[in-house]
Amino acid sequence: MKLLKNCFLFNPEKMGKKDILFSNNMIISIEDEIDISGVSNIQIHDMKNRFVVPGFIDNHVHITGGGGEGGFGTRIDPITADDIYKSGVTTVIGLLGTDGTTRTIEDLFAKAKTLNKKNITTYILTGSYRVPVKTLTGSIIKDIVFIDNIIGTGEIAISDHRSSYPSREELIKIITDSARGGLLANKAGVVNFHVGKDKKGIEDLIYLVKNYDISPKNILPTHMNRSKYLLREGIKYIKEGGLIDLTASSSSKDYRNKAEDFNFLIESGADIEKITFSSDGQGSLPRFTPQGKFLKMGVGKLNSLHETFKSLILDFNFKLEEALLPITRNPSAIYKLDKKGEIKAGSDPDFVVLNRDNYDIDFVISGGKYVFKNKKNM
Ligand code: ZN
Repeated sequence: MKLLKNCFLFNPEKMGKKDILFSNNMIISIEDEIDISGVSNIQIHDMKNRFVVPGFIDNHVHITGGGGEGGFGTRIDPITADDIYKSGVTTVIGLLGTDGTTRTIEDLFAKAKTLNKKNITTYILTGSYRVPVKTLTGSIIKDIVFIDNIIGTGEIAISDHRSSYPSREELIKIITDSARGGLLANKAGVVNFHVGKDKKGIEDLIYLVKNYDISPKNILPTHMNRSKYLLREGIKYIKEGGLIDLTASSSSKDYRNKAEDFNFLIESGADIEKITFSSDGQGSLPRFTPQGKFLKMGVGKLNSLHETFKSLILDFNFKLEEALLPITRNPSAIYKLDKKGEIKAGSDPDFVVLNRDNYDIDFVISGGKYVFKNKKNM
């Protein structure tokens, strides 16, 4: 067992000074002061009043590598455990994107299992951009019901030249199959939609939740901060009960911009609990000159979540507990990850320990083990 003394805890609500006792499997107790006199075999670590927050959840990562839109030379490498550790992410949802041809769901499944062995909780979605959806067992429902780590479907592309331009009927089938699989297996059954540049945006999704008995809880459109237009559509959609995901990675590493997108939504009256941030990690980020000439293929980074979180606090005056929501409790609620996104007795022991001066990551504890220590700040 391990005991973290003198934490300044955000669970994500501000809880103040606490001690946290945990094993490798779960958080055992959280008290103002935990007395362990007479108990042997406990490692004690004094957090010296650092901020201790839930491990981050990244709900959109191309764990087996994305890209490939410029030929085989532009395929992006699979992610490494180290990339994940240092970003503060302790829970990952892996998925396939444009390339469902040379990349397979079988490989995605195996990679997720590998990351699990390395103390990173990893789930996956079935399918890729293309419709009809390519699955592991031949059906979306069976994938979700029978494969333990498959919790939904995606990313299904809409409004994009790389999509199959699925009809509303096809969308209904994908969403209802996914939802039904979720019901049977008590999983989220969420469909993650990649939303492209076409003006049509999420028009079909808005239509479906308005006109059918389809729950918006089973739908999460992503890249919704691709343009101001789409952000505004997102506000409309949230008002219909919808959920939206913003992409934090940026080829120019301008995370202030990403925080500004979030700020725009909140200032426009969007419910903070309906919004998540994901990194699109290991996805392709083409870089262009100011004149629009293709420069090179960049790669989505998981640390974009932490960078954007910092910008929300430092540049836009969000409270720490608010800036945590889109990367902790909100994705946990949407994807039904009951033991994730909050720090409470019974939850998984996943913590990010932040420096009080600059919100940098000092430590990451994932699955009860230290997986990252920032030597600069020891
Ligand atoms: Zn995408």
